[in-house]
Amino acid sequence: MIYYQRTIRKVINCAGIGLHSGKKARIRFVPAGPNSGIKFKRTDVQADNLLIEASYQNLSTVNYATTLSKDGYDIQTVEHLLAALAGLGVDNLLIEIDSAEVPIMDGSSAPFVFLLQEAGILEQPVPKKYLKIRRPIRVGTNEKFIKIVPSEELEITYAIDFKHPLINKQQTHYSLSEANFIKKISRARTFGFLNEVKELRKAGLIKGGSLDNAIVIGDYHILNGGLRFEDEFVCHKIIDFIGDLYLLGRPIIGHVIAHKAGHGLHSLLVKKLEKYHSKWEFVPRIEKTTSSRKTLYPCPNQNLAVTAS
Ligand SMILES: [Zn+2]
Repeated sequence: MIYYQRTIRKVINCAGIGLHSGKKARIRFVPAGPNSGIKFKRTDVQADNLLIEASYQNLSTVNYATTLSKDGYDIQTVEHLLAALAGLGVDNLLIEIDSAEVPIMDGSSAPFVFLLQEAGILEQPVPKKYLKIRRPIRVGTNEKFIKIVPSEELEITYAIDFKHPLINKQQTHYSLSEANFIKKISRARTFGFLNEVKELRKAGLIKGGSLDNAIVIGDYHILNGGLRFEDEFVCHKIIDFIGDLYLLGRPIIGHVIAHKAGHGLHSLLVKKLEKYHSKWEFVPRIEKTTSSRKTLYPCPNQNLAVTAS
């Protein structure tokens, strides 16, 4: 059995506020046909035919969040949503949004995972293609870098090092599977430092930030009261990485080793992978077992209409 492309079974909606803009956004997820990819459509502007592909070609800024732009229209802070799609293996989806920024929800990918699971995952009769790393590739400096080496699965070893007693050094290793992603990685929230809030607000950022959608780290304690799990900070960096990497339009197979990276290095890696085709090849992926995958996406009630806010 090989892996097939996926979309969702039915239309589903959600709403929330943008982390940086502070503006309310409503999203409508619409199933899409095989080989159509992930596309955004701004419903708040007069640009009926404009579809903004979730592609490195539309990547515009990576300053504190990942922004796509096309024909002068932006879609900001796409990374947590794209990570949810990558984590659940959704290849084809139309995302209608009435704002320039994807809602931050609770700061993690988990609300998007919940919504997509409620809609149900639909396999499509076209094989999925993976980008398999054949030769090592690297971006960055000695201090901050990402490299990918060949492997039979997608594995991520991510390390962070913040000069703050509540974070310090954290490293985690994941052999990424849908189950691992859903159970742990997807629940890790974004984080920021209390002493940077003023500066970021002055720069026009985090207008929608609150204790409901980000871990806020003070000098001596976490203002939200606690973490969901001990290595939540580094797990959130993995969400950002998975989301940014999905701008390649394909899942990858390889072992990623990232050290003190961020959106800037993630995007450099995506662009370098796209440039150096000799480093990888497209392959289908053979399913090891046929039983586990079917049980991951129970569709509890196909007629249930879910709207989160
Ligand atoms: Zn993030």
